[in-house]
Amino acid sequence: MINSIDSRAACQALDADDPLAPLRAQFDLPPGVIYLDGNSLGARPRAALQRAQQVIQQEWGVDLIRSWNKAGWFDLPARLGNQLAPLIGAKDNEVVITDSTSINLFKLLAGALQLQTAKADAATRKVIVTERDNFPTDIYMAQGLTEWLDRGYRIHLIDSPQELASAVNAETAVLMLTHVNYRSGHLHDMQAVTAAAQEQGALVLWDLAHSAGALPIDLHAANADFAVGCTYKYLNGGPGAPAFAWIAPRHHAQFRQPLSGWWGHRAPFTMQPGFTPVDGIRRALCGTQPIVSMALVECGLDIFAQTDMQALRKKSLALTDLFISLVESRCAGLDLTLVTPRAHAERGSHVSFAHAHGYGIMRELIARGVIGDYREPQVMRFGFTPLYTGFCDVWDAVETLRQIVAGKEYQINAQQEAVT
Ligand SMILES: *Cc1c(COP(=O)(O)O)cnc(C)c1O
Repeated sequence: MINSIDSRAACQALDADDPLAPLRAQFDLPPGVIYLDGNSLGARPRAALQRAQQVIQQEWGVDLIRSWNKAGWFDLPARLGNQLAPLIGAKDNEVVITDSTSINLFKLLAGALQLQTAKADAATRKVIVTERDNFPTDIYMAQGLTEWLDRGYRIHLIDSPQELASAVNAETAVLMLTHVNYRSGHLHDMQAVTAAAQEQGALVLWDLAHSAGALPIDLHAANADFAVGCTYKYLNGGPGAPAFAWIAPRHHAQFRQPLSGWWGHRAPFTMQPGFTPVDGIRRALCGTQPIVSMALVECGLDIFAQTDMQALRKKSLALTDLFISLVESRCAGLDLTLVTPRAHAERGSHVSFAHAHGYGIMRELIARGVIGDYREPQVMRFGFTPLYTGFCDVWDAVETLRQIVAGKEYQINAQQEAVT
């Protein structure tokens, strides 16, 4: 059992037995670094360098504008969407890679509100329910949209998942939740939460930023309505890589969104002055995409094709179990408080510990090559990415943490950087 592991040699044995260990060779990580921040920026797939070279040198440099057709640039959002689909329980022609998570959330939330206006009780269904603890941009985008619409929509922020049952009711237009909480790592039961909300007539929009590529997701089994998420976190698409948007096929025909750019048009190159949305998921697109960045998303997705989410989840839980158990045994009495749920069914793929000197400890960890990150207030986050993190990495990270906290070697007066 994982919680009886008490030596580095035992971790070495786990690594030797790990069927996913060879996948690490598909990533370029600098020597001497234990990278525990793949939940925020995934590591670079080895293949990305060559792919970037190909796009810039050949497709852009030589083929020039012909690449929109010849290299398939125009189809990239849908083609890569199809490649991502199985990781989230979606099917072909239901996902597009495009824009940022914030922007996709805006488009899909607007579309969801619009769908609700067709219902008989639309006049009293004016509330968007989400968590106060949600990633702030999700709340900000909802605030921006509802203020802009100025149609009497309200945002109801709940303070714990237990409040869902009473907060989602006949006034709820949309329940908008992040599947795995960015700070605590808490995981919602997508199927149960979706069913309960739909029972009340609400539509459900899931943000999969911290769960796509981290754990198995089945949007169809959950009967979800909408989903968005990042490709630059667990999916290893590269910094600022375009995000994804999924719409349940039952909504495709009625779905409209306000950013009605020409990539969502039925026939963009007819250059008509009037907007008619294209059929299907492409109507979630807006304008021309950052092709150089988008092309690299494929390199991350290709690696997932060599394994499956069940195997990744099994290793992810073993890594997070081991980290929790080692911190609690080897760092006992050092005032580190577990923020992440212990139950597997309630945990994503990162683990957070709070400490009064969390920021200074994280700064010192990073200085020693153990890279996690910090989120206010006092929370140190450690992301475990089963594609390229091993059990000895966990041991070594905990040992470094123990030395820093026990020896009070943290950077007490560390000035907070712009990005923490
Ligand atoms: C990372 C993250 C985002 C990031 O949004 P961007 O538009 O890519 O900056 C949004 N929502 C959640 C829940 C996240 O975890």
